[in-house]
Amino acid sequence: MEGLSYQANICLLLELEKPLSSYYWITVAEVSAPFVAVIEHTNLIPAEEYGAHLVYLSRYLRPDHKLYTASDARVKEIFLTYLRKIFPEWQDSWVRGSHVYRSAYAQPVATTGYSRKIPAYQTPIPHLYLASMAQIYPEDRGQNFALRNGREVARIAQEFTEMPDVSGMA
Ligand SMILES: Cc1cc2nc3c(=O)[nH]c(=O)nc-3n(C[C@H](O)[C@H](O)[C@H](O)COP(=O)(O)OP(=O)(O)OC[C@H]3O[C@@H](n4cnc5c(N)ncnc54)[C@H](O)[C@@H]3O)c2cc1C
Repeated sequence: MEGLSYQANICLLLELEKPLSSYYWITVAEVSAPFVAVIEHTNLIPAEEYGAHLVYLSRYLRPDHKLYTASDARVKEIFLTYLRKIFPEWQDSWVRGSHVYRSAYAQPVATTGYSRKIPAYQTPIPHLYLASMAQIYPEDRGQNFALRNGREVARIAQEFTEMPDVSGMA
């Protein structure tokens, strides 16, 4: 969306043969750390649902940052090197699989005057409506607000859309 700026995100998802810790979310506030959170998803949803213990390491950054454009192998190397500092008992042999995910438009950045830039639900294209993270302000992006937004847009779209009368059809 023109005129809005976003942070990108890079995530390393690890499939582990054993749990890393008993915590769901560990925030890493150290400036030198390559990621900002260690999230052990299977401390929320049981590992039996996936057949592995799932942990992801997440970092927000600019899409032209050298970490964002680095190869998957390099990202894994950098992230795991730091993970060992947090978990000294870490063994590479615990990793059954790993995946690097990148999202260029992961976090809308609310700059000064943002409330005047929020995109409208209705787009210039007839019958096309927009529900997006950029409209959540002043809340922060989250699935609960995505659902709220989706319901609101569906309600508005219904008001503006003439539904065909199918009551007499077999
Ligand atoms: C790294 C990261 C971590 C997050 N962590 C959390 C968290 O811990 N808790 C939380 O509540 N929220 C979190 N969020 C925010 C949450 O993911 C979003 O707010 C939510 O997913 C938005 O839902 P949505 O349905 O609007 O969009 P999305 O979930 O992005 O769904 C949009 C869908 O449309 C598809 N799509 C896009 N373009 C097209 C096209 N042209 N044609 C067809 N399909 C298309 C996409 O593939 C996608 O499946 C996180 C987001 C990121 C990026």
